[in-house]
Amino acid sequence: MPNKSLITAEELYTRLKNIKVGASVCQYSLKKCAELVPVINEIQRLKKEKDAVILVHSYVSPEIVYGVADFVGDSYKLSRDAMATKAKTLVFVAVRFMGETAKILNPDKEVLVPATDPGCTLADSITAEDVRRLRTEFPEHTFVCYVNTSVDVKAECDVCVTSANVYQIVEQLKSNKVYFLPDKFMGENLMNEMKKRKVAKEILFWKGTCYVHEEYDAAAIFKVRSEYPDVKIVSHPECNAEVVRNSDFVGGTEQMLDYMRKAKASHFLMLTECGLSARLQSEFPDKNLVGSCTLCKYMKSNTLEGILQTLKAPTSLQRVHIEEPVRLRALKSLDAMFEYTKHIPVKKSAVCE
Ligand code: SF4
Repeated sequence: MPNKSLITAEELYTRLKNIKVGASVCQYSLKKCAELVPVINEIQRLKKEKDAVILVHSYVSPEIVYGVADFVGDSYKLSRDAMATKAKTLVFVAVRFMGETAKILNPDKEVLVPATDPGCTLADSITAEDVRRLRTEFPEHTFVCYVNTSVDVKAECDVCVTSANVYQIVEQLKSNKVYFLPDKFMGENLMNEMKKRKVAKEILFWKGTCYVHEEYDAAAIFKVRSEYPDVKIVSHPECNAEVVRNSDFVGGTEQMLDYMRKAKASHFLMLTECGLSARLQSEFPDKNLVGSCTLCKYMKSNTLEGILQTLKAPTSLQRVHIEEPVRLRALKSLDAMFEYTKHIPVKKSAVCE
């Protein structure tokens, strides 16, 4: 999948032609590919000149994933990829908190985020000041933050988690009092899972939601099941508890792809952002997706033109800068996660999505 050299319109079209996700922005003709190729090839040229790599989240537009990405995945995988590369500049085609996570782990590299609207309703639902206040209110609780948080919030917490390792990490915590933030649905799902595992923990949680995943409800699942009896329902833990309860598989972005790669079923309903459905259609054209998906406007504010402009002359807003004391405190919560996950049988870790 990574695109190492210049590309022709025909080659791009071969990668994109199977994608038919709802909106017309995600449908490709040879003519459209011919229009995209000059920008893609200019990005490839500049990337070499600037010693940059392009890391792309699965939720961004398919022409970016299949046109210019050196690495594709969720933010955890991408941050790990970023640590392994020798390039001095990382163009993080995703949203702000993901660029920050990459910078926490790669302080000596320049991290650039080209999105014009790099927000996230989850990460933006809570501030460092909120966490400081909560810690005064609940001094005995261990503060667990989902990776979808700002660097300032991570700096105030004890341990960071991803959607792939949250259950195992919370299960291992010494404290039986846990404050989980910022996602209320993941908080509810966490509470239910701990009860199922007979782990006695008092779990409080913040009120944030992902506006993409909160859209889904169990009624859509029942409708699709009545039309396609063999369908497998695949959802993200940012969905509500009823959706999670009625799903065949629940996991983060990379785990979902992994499940679908291996599943024998012919029909799938994916309750997540459209970008992942597009990846599936391109990489597994024999699997049929039913139902509809939802776009994240923040992820979709990344464009090829934006990447090109960022490579040429990044603005100060596109450069990720973190004060060193804050970075070191945020790093502690990420290091705590890495320490806990040493003891977890390795499944692919996944985030945000
Ligand atoms: S999909 Fe949801 S969690 Fe992911 S960036 Fe968009 S708003 Fe945030």
